[in-house]
Amino acid sequence: MRTLAPLLALAVVAAPLSAQQVPDISWPVHDTTRPRPEVVRPDPVPSDATVLFDGSGLDAWRSPEGGAATWQISDGAMVAVPGAGDIETAESFGDVQLHVEWMAPKDVKQGQNSGNSGVYLMKHYEVQVLNSYKNDTYPDGQAAALYGQYPPLVNASRAPGEWQSYDITFRAPRFDGAGKLTSPAIVTVFHNGVLVQDHVVLTGPTAHRARPPYEAHAAKLPILLQDHGEAVRYRNIWARPLK
Ligand code: MG
Repeated sequence: MRTLAPLLALAVVAAPLSAQQVPDISWPVHDTTRPRPEVVRPDPVPSDATVLFDGSGLDAWRSPEGGAATWQISDGAMVAVPGAGDIETAESFGDVQLHVEWMAPKDVKQGQNSGNSGVYLMKHYEVQVLNSYKNDTYPDGQAAALYGQYPPLVNASRAPGEWQSYDITFRAPRFDGAGKLTSPAIVTVFHNGVLVQDHVVLTGPTAHRARPPYEAHAAKLPILLQDHGEAVRYRNIWARPLK
């Protein structure tokens, strides 16, 4: 007998669980009629992923102001040419698994000026990109921080000039018809394979020196990469929309 009532009660008590994160243990153990997971071929990129950059071009990207993305492609990477502006995906995403590889330039800059860029989920929620290898800054602004909110659990940074990876799962915030928040954004991040953000609940969108409240937005929005005036490189970017 499947019953969801206790689970739904749990979900109401444990507030930031959103509907898709309520565990479904209503199936009897080892029930052979239980639906099989979809088959996904994992290599070289998950077969159900949307490839956003494979080194060949910027077709999946555009300028937030309209028009083509203005970053350069060099040695199979795309480069945040200083002053070129942010770029965003042409496709919009809500709940998503995102893989991004990035490299901070070798330079002598320090603090927030060393390899600063950022991966913005839904254009609002930034996972900070920064050289944080022997480069001190405020913890909620170092590499893999949810900028202004959560420092990473550990600093798993590689040196500038070395490729690094972020593997991110993002659960989009939900808003009701009146624009009221019903479920906050929830983020998990692995930095170079190391867990650095463990299902953190965001207080609202990213801002500088502020933590503004949520404002209702579309259920899906582009992923944005930040131009912060540093020649940060990106490669091998793919996204899996989550059901
Ligand atoms: Mg940034």
